[in-house]
Amino acid sequence: MSSPRTFEDYSQRAQALSLPSKLFIDGRYRDAVSGKTFPCVNPGTGKVIAEIAEGDDADVELAVAAARRAFNAGHWSRMAPKERKKILIRLADLIEKHGEELAILETIDMGKPIGDSLSVDIPSSANAIRWNGEACDKIYDEIAPTGPGALGAVTREAIGVVGAVVPWNFPLLMAMWKLGPALAGGNSVVLKPAEQSPLTALRIGELAMEAGLPEGVLNVVSGFGPTAGRALGLHDDVDCIAFTGSGEVGKLFLQYAGQSNMKRVWLECGGKSPNIVFADCDDLDNAARQAAIGIFYNQGEVCTAASRLLVQDTIKDAFMEKVLATAQAMHPGDPLDPATRMGAMVEEGHMKRVLDYIEIGKDEGARLLCGGERVLHNSGGFYIAPTVFDNVVNTMRIAREEIFGPVLSTLTFRDEEEALAIANDTTFGLAAGLWTSNLKRAHAVARRLRAGSVWVNCWDGGDMTMPFGGYKQSGNGRDKSLHALDKYTEIKATWFDFGEG
Ligand code: NAD
Repeated sequence: MSSPRTFEDYSQRAQALSLPSKLFIDGRYRDAVSGKTFPCVNPGTGKVIAEIAEGDDADVELAVAAARRAFNAGHWSRMAPKERKKILIRLADLIEKHGEELAILETIDMGKPIGDSLSVDIPSSANAIRWNGEACDKIYDEIAPTGPGALGAVTREAIGVVGAVVPWNFPLLMAMWKLGPALAGGNSVVLKPAEQSPLTALRIGELAMEAGLPEGVLNVVSGFGPTAGRALGLHDDVDCIAFTGSGEVGKLFLQYAGQSNMKRVWLECGGKSPNIVFADCDDLDNAARQAAIGIFYNQGEVCTAASRLLVQDTIKDAFMEKVLATAQAMHPGDPLDPATRMGAMVEEGHMKRVLDYIEIGKDEGARLLCGGERVLHNSGGFYIAPTVFDNVVNTMRIAREEIFGPVLSTLTFRDEEEALAIANDTTFGLAAGLWTSNLKRAHAVARRLRAGSVWVNCWDGGDMTMPFGGYKQSGNGRDKSLHALDKYTEIKATWFDFGEG
């Protein structure tokens, strides 16, 4: 059968899918110990599409025990790296083979456009697994520069049981950024997807088994943060937490570690990223298009959203006209329609939170240039029009707090020094962008921006070879690239004493 291409095709396929709804523990699906479930809502329609098993402490207990048993048994943790590689590459192949199904699950679960799920989320997820799988047997350990009477071996070992706690904005991709290096390093994993978006994570449990991952190496516990997430954070037999989500919850995980076994805690948290446009940029059309896409892509529910636009004062008015043209072309539509470029907000509560921020912006005196309201009410879904504020100053809440929605805050600056001062005046440090045709300025400004990723004449550039993570309250540690393996391995120093030399 050829691939569905129309809205009707995708809608029919979505209705025909059997949705994964149970926890995946020790190689099989099971109900929650409590028997409880919670509703899974399609943000595009507001309708309940499944009842999902609600894991809590008891289920986390079972999952961690299964992960520990698997780790100690060594079928995965002590498997030759070249064999682990084969299994991870098979998993990547299976993600691609089931790509359309996974893309539909992602779209009906969290509201992103099907075109983006198909072209970005699923291929990038497969790539994250394949890239790390391929790395398995290409990383060497070290021999220390000792004298002839000794041999100092510096080796990397799996850390043990990893708890991966992920958000709802890129449900599968964020999970795969953790799973790829954690599994490549020989660890066992308990994955807790966000309660808003459990479907693809639950399905991956089964695909991983089909790829040949031994039982218990990957466990998936759906459930709520304050119960299942907390239980994982406080568990004494979890060696490391890899978290992506809000700073508020990131700080809780640091507390959980202090209250329990001092587990390693790696955090990828939010951002309020500055996108700086200098008047000497020679392609302002492209800069304006990217400025709009950078905030409206994925409904603005992106940790690296280009949420603070800093435009040099001499070009501001002309530039904003170009930004508005792209913004208005990105009006929301049904996420399952392949023509849709902006989908629905993940849930009603989050939509309201974003609408509240729009009111805050108006009250603070910012000028609303477009959007600012809920649209497509009749669909039952949670849609917000692309919203652009002008005349924002960096002390306003809409310039300082992460809105995590399609709301752009525009500020102006006079010169390079002022641009840098505004850009770095934030508690976050995830990403920053700058647009200029002056190479010397590009280099100087990029070096002075306090952010984990800096994009020059683009927004959100990079691939699996580039580390991803934040400065300041955007987190610690890095996902992607070989640096990600640092999070999931211990370094062992073994000194062989030959008693001579
Ligand atoms: P969130 O922090 O509310 O939830 C993230 C995860 O933590 C979910 O699985 C949730 O169930 C769990 N959780 C919630 N409360 C918990 C608690 N009390 N104890 C333990 N676990 C708990 O974040 P969200 O709303 O799902 O996602 C949005 C946030 O994620 C934004 O701040 C965004 O910037 C951030 N994010 C960051 C990155 C990055 O790589 N830096 C990527 C995507 C999203």
